Amino acid sequence: MAEQNFPTGQLMAGKRGLIMGVANKNSIAWAIARQLAAQGAELAFTYQGDALLRRVKPLAESVGSDILCECDVTNDATMDSTFATLKEKWGTIDFLVHAIAFAGKDQLAGSFIDNTTREGFKSALDISAYSFVDAGRRASEIMNDGGAMVTLTYLGSERVIPNYNVMGVAKAALEASMRYMAADLGPRQIRVNAISAGPIKTLAAAGIGSGRHMFRFNKAASAMQDNTDPMGVAGAALYLLSDLGLSCTGETHHVDGGFHAIGMPQEGPLRESMPD
Ligand code: NAD
Repeated sequence: MAEQNFPTGQLMAGKRGLIMGVANKNSIAWAIARQLAAQGAELAFTYQGDALLRRVKPLAESVGSDILCECDVTNDATMDSTFATLKEKWGTIDFLVHAIAFAGKDQLAGSFIDNTTREGFKSALDISAYSFVDAGRRASEIMNDGGAMVTLTYLGSERVIPNYNVMGVAKAALEASMRYMAADLGPRQIRVNAISAGPIKTLAAAGIGSGRHMFRFNKAASAMQDNTDPMGVAGAALYLLSDLGLSCTGETHHVDGGFHAIGMPQEGPLRESMPD
């Protein structure tokens, strides 16, 4: 992602939260982190393992964060230690960003019915959907009333996207989980929402077969005839995590240049990008 200037202000002043899912500077979670920091939030980060630490550490430091926790969401001990660290350092938190997903490469190509294995299905659902339930429960235990949580999803949960396969099923489970979490935490005024982002060039997106076709098709067929800008996703997260988002919960908010709203795209741009 090119260096961008995020709107500055005080919308998140006095709020502290955990960002899960930064792998590098192209991560959607990093765009969100920068936007929240530019609005005065204090941030803590998780990183998946030593290989990512050298990328995540300088990013965290650049927004003044010194709380970096190793966390693999399939490993209860690292989940325990992450939330114990937050409790010890801060006592309470105000928000959680969950931007984590994984499915084996063999699960993300070709026929869904033929290529989805039991292990592949379990692992995709565990890492990409259950991890939000687990992190959300742990976060809620130290979250101030009036806090907020956001997760990242994709249209492949609602409609068939070639090669997205089991990840689409996992995203459907993630969105449903988000609604149940919103209901459970609503009485404490804790809001839980999902952002359904259009395709963005990240490490995770690179794992999906026919990525180039996906970007070209989205650009041609979206209402705005453009790819999704991570800054827009970050702006939506700011709205949902700040007090601007009061009363909004249980919502899947699309930030995809209007791609989801189009039934049949105009012929012109599609013809140019996808010749016969
Ligand atoms: P990314 O590769 O930068 O981030 C994915 C993150 O998931 C990485 O930080 C990785 O370390 C983490 N992760 C994977 N398995 C993990 C595990 N077992 N434990 C802990 N962390 C783990 O890619 P991204 O595109 O920024 O993805 C962030 C979220 O956005 C994902 O949920 C993804 O599905 C979603 N999303 C992405 C797009 C897109 O086009 N890039 C579109 C819509 C939604």
